[in-house]
Order: sequence, then structure tokens, then C-alpha cells
Amino acid sequence: MGDARPAPEPGQAGPPAQPGPGPVQSAGSPHRATATRILIVEDEAELTRALRINLRARQYDVLTARTGREALAVAASHPPDAVILDLGLPDIDGTEVIVELRRWCKAPIIVLSGRTSPGDKIGALDVGADDYVTKPFAMAELLARLRAALRRDDGEIGQDQRRQATIGHWLVDLAAHQVTRVPGSGEQGRGAGGAAVGEGGADGTETSLRLTPTEWRILEFLVRRPGQLVPSAEILTGVWGPGFQQRTNYLRFHMARLRRKLEANPARPRHLLTEPGMGYRYQP
Ligand code: CA
Repeated sequence: MGDARPAPEPGQAGPPAQPGPGPVQSAGSPHRATATRILIVEDEAELTRALRINLRARQYDVLTARTGREALAVAASHPPDAVILDLGLPDIDGTEVIVELRRWCKAPIIVLSGRTSPGDKIGALDVGADDYVTKPFAMAELLARLRAALRRDDGEIGQDQRRQATIGHWLVDLAAHQVTRVPGSGEQGRGAGGAAVGEGGADGTETSLRLTPTEWRILEFLVRRPGQLVPSAEILTGVWGPGFQQRTNYLRFHMARLRRKLEANPARPRHLLTEPGMGYRYQP
């Protein structure tokens, strides 16, 4: 049945062809799965540190990047809920980072910059930034603008839509990292064992499913953009890293496993769709 060789999990496939983005600096909060994830893109270490401390104190999950390219790699592998972005970065300009992020990422972007000219502000907003804060700034004001941006984002896209998806009989909750049976959909009700966790698929007895970390990360790319085509190269880069864009067999392998777990009829998927030669689509 197709490609039977197991595809490696990220990190087991040997080094990528190009240097990776470097270690992802996460706040390591034990509540990370449900915390709002903020990506700070800033090359001034002191400012990054101050932002991280303030955001963590408010229960945000914090990722940091010192360069534009690192920011794009981190965002692809750990999609942020919001981005705080300096324009003056050591490699590519922050405006370019906005353009690249906006090709796939809808998270609000707040520019944090020493550039004060109207032209800089207009340029950043025109390419997709949501707000612009000029350095020096008051931390309280930045945090208030961040909250406002996140509220607007929730209003526009809908937190549930980005965080939860129904696939066949299963409710996939990205924030909680749980897959549970949609209430009332279990034809035979709960199995005798109660909340049995099974890997097998929709046979009507299990009330929850277990997915691998790789499967979660692939699903996250798809579910956050319901109805949209997500290019294979983007998922491969985001999950396995730069240099893996051509390894479409990895993706086929894991998508087949996801379908066996989640689709009522894996041979004729209705929600996790393949667009041959292009990518994949989550159809709600
Ligand atoms: Ca800077």
C-alpha cells in the first residue's frame, strides 16, 4: 500500500542540507500547550530579555529570534499567535520578514522600531503589519497593544476555528493536544473501558486518540488554514527543517497515518485531502 517505509520523525533524519535555524528558545512553560505563543524578533539582547520577562510574567509562551531568517524558520516550525518584530535586523530587513510571514501566517504582527518616519510606518503597515510601536516605548503600552491585536485576531479568525477542527467523528484540539470523539457521534457509545486510548481508528469504541508529535505539527499547518491549499514544501520545511522541501514521501507517510486514525474511510478521505503535486488541504 504505497510507501511503506517509515518516515523519520524530525531530528532523526540526519542533519539538514543547510544549517538549521538554531535552537528554538522557548520559555519552557509547563502550560505551553495552551498558552498564547509570542515570537519576539529582535537583535538587541537586552530588549529581548526585557520583553521575554514581561511576557512570561503574563503567561505568554515566548519564542525569540535574533535575525530575520531565524524568525522565518522559527515561525514555520512553531507557528506563533502574535509576532513582535524589530525592523532593523542584522540580515534581512524586518519589512521583508513581514512580507514572507504574510504568505502564510495570519498572526498579528506588531512592529517595534526606532525608525520614526511616516514612510517606514506606512511601509510596514502596507505589507501586513498590524501595529507600529516606536522605540523607546513604554512596556505597558506595548502589552496593551499586543492584547488588542490578539483580541482583534480572535474576532476575525475565531479562536475555535484556528484551534479546533472536526475530522470525521473526531474533535481535534490543537491547544490542548487532544483528540476526542465528537459527543453523540460514537454509534456504540463508550466502550466498556471508559476513556480507552487507542491507536486503531474510528471503530466506534475509543473516546480519544493519540497522535505523534509529528502528526500534531502537520495537523497544525492544515487546521489553522481551513479550506486552503498548504504547499508540501511549507509543511516539510516547518516540520523537518530547511533542506527537506523535496521529501514529499515523509509527508505522504504521515498523512496516510493521520487518515487511518482520523478519517472514517481512510481510502476516500473527506477532510485531509491531497492536492497532487502541490500539497494538502484540510476541508472542514
Ligand atoms: Ca535592531
